Amino acid sequence: MNLMSTGDLIPWANLPEGTRLDLHSHTKCSDGGLSPKELVDRAVNFQIDILAITDHDTVAALDIANEYIVDQKIPLKLVNGIEISTGWEGFEIHIVALNIDEKAPELLQLIKRQQQAREERAIAMGEKLEKCGFDNIYNQAKKISGDGSITRAHFAKVLVREGHVSAMQKAFDKFIGKGQRAFVKANWCSIEEAIAAIHLAGGSAVMAHPVRYGLSTKWLRRLVVHFKENGGDALETVLPQMGNEQRKLMLSFCLEYDLKASMGSDFHYPSKWSDLGRNLTMPDQATPVWQSW
Ligand code: AMP
Ligand code: MN
Ligand code: MN
Ligand code: MN
Repeated sequence: MNLMSTGDLIPWANLPEGTRLDLHSHTKCSDGGLSPKELVDRAVNFQIDILAITDHDTVAALDIANEYIVDQKIPLKLVNGIEISTGWEGFEIHIVALNIDEKAPELLQLIKRQQQAREERAIAMGEKLEKCGFDNIYNQAKKISGDGSITRAHFAKVLVREGHVSAMQKAFDKFIGKGQRAFVKANWCSIEEAIAAIHLAGGSAVMAHPVRYGLSTKWLRRLVVHFKENGGDALETVLPQMGNEQRKLMLSFCLEYDLKASMGSDFHYPSKWSDLGRNLTMPDQATPVWQSW
């Protein structure tokens, strides 16, 4: 709907009807398939007005995308974001930060720590995979991750390419997923540390895809309470491929615990099942996370 031209102020509290937002996406700077510029181009082609780039534990794509948008006068508003991996009660919980100052020192310090945790885990995962009979996986994963965040998705890709598994999902199911032979628990920061760094960077802390942690409703509630008690701002309430019951549960948590709502596709690369901005509509009763920006 061409909401804006470059540099316009966004009427966050009162976005025009029909504004299309996607507040969760990845680039090659972590485990996405597109470069930051390609992602921006795709967002425009998909008629997205507002896009958040939220790579795993890195903000490297933001400058590249922002510069491209300004230079080429691209009609897309970029929301600066990051997806931070945290540890809670033995689970890996992802916290998306939105509307951050990506240069805030406390955030940069946390990112450095997370990158170190990623590197240490990657090395240990490589050693475990050696013991499974797969040589040189770490070096290859490192190579395809380049100078971006090294993720398990890179390992899965190499395991497929080398013919050790038939599909990326199988790599998780058989080797690198939780509880499998080559799984390594990473030394992630805590939820409270992530939220504190996000707030110091002026951003909103959003619990990413709460329905994807395989938690029972009782545990999910516990997680939401913990998140709220530590200053969390919003739940990702709207994702593609989410059932009606799940949508209702997320909305009820938002209302019960006075949390705002966010929505995003968690786009990694084009696929049959999901794409940028698809199936994302904010429920009327929810308070959108961008309301206070
Ligand atoms: P990491 O953050 O390094 O642990 O990598 C996890 C990433 O791998 C996720 O963000 C997903 O993009 C991808 N992934 C794909 N399938 C799975 C799976 N079954 N379990 C966990 N992660 C998966
Ligand atoms: Mn990912
Ligand atoms: Mn995630
Ligand atoms: Mn994600």
